[in-house]
Amino acid sequence: MARYGMTCDEKLCVTCNACVLACKSENKVPEGEARCWTVQEERGVFPLLTVETRSERCNHCENAPCVSACPTGASYYAEGGIVLVDPNKCVGCKVCTIACPYEVRYMHPDGYIDKCTFCVHRVREGKDPACVTVCPTGALTFGDLDDPNSEIHQQLKRRTSKVLKPEEDTRPRLFFLT
Ligand code: SF4
Ligand code: SF4
Repeated sequence: MARYGMTCDEKLCVTCNACVLACKSENKVPEGEARCWTVQEERGVFPLLTVETRSERCNHCENAPCVSACPTGASYYAEGGIVLVDPNKCVGCKVCTIACPYEVRYMHPDGYIDKCTFCVHRVREGKDPACVTVCPTGALTFGDLDDPNSEIHQQLKRRTSKVLKPEEDTRPRLFFLT
């Protein structure tokens, strides 16, 4: 059984938003909402400023508070640990959006909670998520974290990386290569 994850190389991400647009079109994301977005964060004090650039989305946490909080089982772990929402079971109570520390969920106009799915429909066909495919600098990598031969496994072995809000103990599977 795979354990899917994603890396975003902060040295390669140029915040061009190609990932954001590809995701919107691939997943028919409603107007005004987004399943992924880019961030530019300044670090340090002038004149020693550095800018961190990255593409963010649901972290598909291994210890996902959205899943444990959901009273109907609508939020669940699918194959490879991908965190999904079943629109048919979702009652729109938003308990999951409060439980998630990352603000990655939105209410779909059809009345259910929606978010990044790692393009599970593409993954099931052996393809990469749309954002990974279109990134012009190759900043995004998707794959099986447990496969020692996978690119993502090799990257995480070779490079330093971080996750967002590690103190929340959610065990994110979206890693930022620094
Ligand atoms: Fe759930 Fe939020 Fe983690 Fe995504 S980032 S799995 S919505 S807790
Ligand atoms: Fe579960 Fe839907 Fe309520 Fe979120 S809004 S906790 S997915 S039933």
